[in-house]
Amino acid sequence: MTAADVRADCVLGLDGVEVTVQARRGLMGSVPVTILHGITLSIARGETVAVVGESGSGKTTLGRATLRLAPISAGTIRFDGRDVTRLPEGQLRTFRRRAQAVFQDPYGSLSPYMRVRDLVAEPLVVQRVGSAGERRDRVVRALEQVRMRPASDWLDRYPHTLSGGQRQRVSIARAMVLEPDYVVADEPVSMVDASSRAEILGLLRSFQESRGVAYLYITHDLASARYMAARIAVMYLGRVVELGEAREVIEQPLHPYTRALLAAVPEPDPANRHRLRPVVAGEPPSVMAPPPGCPFHPRCPASMAGVCDVAEPPLIQVASRREVACHLYPASAAAAQQPRLGGSDALEVDRASRLQVVAGAQERPGGGAHLGATGDAV
Ligand code: SF4
Repeated sequence: MTAADVRADCVLGLDGVEVTVQARRGLMGSVPVTILHGITLSIARGETVAVVGESGSGKTTLGRATLRLAPISAGTIRFDGRDVTRLPEGQLRTFRRRAQAVFQDPYGSLSPYMRVRDLVAEPLVVQRVGSAGERRDRVVRALEQVRMRPASDWLDRYPHTLSGGQRQRVSIARAMVLEPDYVVADEPVSMVDASSRAEILGLLRSFQESRGVAYLYITHDLASARYMAARIAVMYLGRVVELGEAREVIEQPLHPYTRALLAAVPEPDPANRHRLRPVVAGEPPSVMAPPPGCPFHPRCPASMAGVCDVAEPPLIQVASRREVACHLYPASAAAAQQPRLGGSDALEVDRASRLQVVAGAQERPGGGAHLGATGDAV
């Protein structure tokens, strides 16, 4: 995506965003380490963009950067058309009111000493919204919207009396009570019971359908990304290496890393329980010592000596709303989606059908997929 694609009508637009931190090296010194590299991405109102990748790929840092919770060393973040990249903390109140987060760990994100009524009301108090009575009404409404009914049964409970799924619903009520336009959902179902996952994802989608909330949905789970998102961004070592419509990325993965992630999705067949699945070879390199050239080249089965280990491929548009950072793909639209290598390098489209079975997913209008009869999205 080019800077021109960061449209003013998008709720969130990132243009060349970099995050650099100081990392300790040895006993005395520290060195700058770039965690995010030139991220350009936009999210429209009511859209969900899923960010997938292995641990350490920079997904959570990206989510934090969009909320101005990570130090931005280069690039621009626009929220509702306004540049918020370098607004001083004191001027971020309005932005913080409209941009919220649901975190992975419902056990760590809720204070054990606060009752549900105070946990959900806290963002309203911080933002100085309404009178005490109005805040109570909004808390009750938010709890009922996350299907904690009647709210009076839950208001005086403490987090330790709630299950993981109930805590995560409180976290969602807390994020939604300010009626935000944009929410970072960082692995929101990875720490809740399987029985609660479909309900949590369904709740997030119901807020989107009723209020037009835009989500950055961070996950390592391609099945839930397919269920939730209209578009998927695949990240590797702090870079977006593939971006496109969710269905296309799943059914026609272009980047070798995306293909490897899809190949590792388990097949829902008991006969396959003893069969080893292909996984991405090797370990992700350290951000402290990234390899030259393409950061994926030490693990890539299609790596070309003298090319991939020399020059880092830029993220280029290869088709409408489809971008990839890989030397296998020429920039020309005419050659779109035609890799230079054939044979074993052919696209593994069959992975998509497997993923849909795992997700129990069906198409829905406007992106994402419907849950199957079992509701087993992940
Ligand atoms: Fe593999 Fe080369 Fe493409 Fe990197 S640029 S993903 S090493 S083929």
